[in-house]
Amino acid sequence: MRPEAVAAMQKMFADYHAQSPTGDGLTVVSPYRSYPDQVSVYNGWVRRLGQAQADRQSARPGYSEHQTGLAVDIDTATNQGFGTTAAGQWLAQNSWRYGFVVRYQQGQEPITGYEYEPWHFRYVGVELATELQKQGFPSLETFFGYAPAPSY
Ligand SMILES: [Zn+2]
Repeated sequence: MRPEAVAAMQKMFADYHAQSPTGDGLTVVSPYRSYPDQVSVYNGWVRRLGQAQADRQSARPGYSEHQTGLAVDIDTATNQGFGTTAAGQWLAQNSWRYGFVVRYQQGQEPITGYEYEPWHFRYVGVELATELQKQGFPSLETFFGYAPAPSY
């Protein structure tokens, strides 16, 4: 991951652990991925679920935010229940303070092209994350006025 994003994540983790009532840990499941890494991840989903479902939850190689070094999966990838845990709720409520956004929010699939992923955080910097939070934008596409869900 890029140094700025790593530093922000480390501060977020430290603050979470200092405030966590349950003491649950946060785990980095998947940070930066190279192109070959993404080929492996995506092809694994296609084998397991078929391409149509794989495209709802995994980016094709060359399109993943993980390849930018600005995205990180925290806790259990593919577990939407993470959004209801103490850790998932804390991150959803506070990650913007550190410059992160829950990139693929619930109900936004027609806009973002991806299912709800409460574990996938994208670093956008504190300034933009604060703007998104204050104005209540559910996605970067909505904020920037991009067309919904780019197709391949
Ligand atoms: Zn992810």
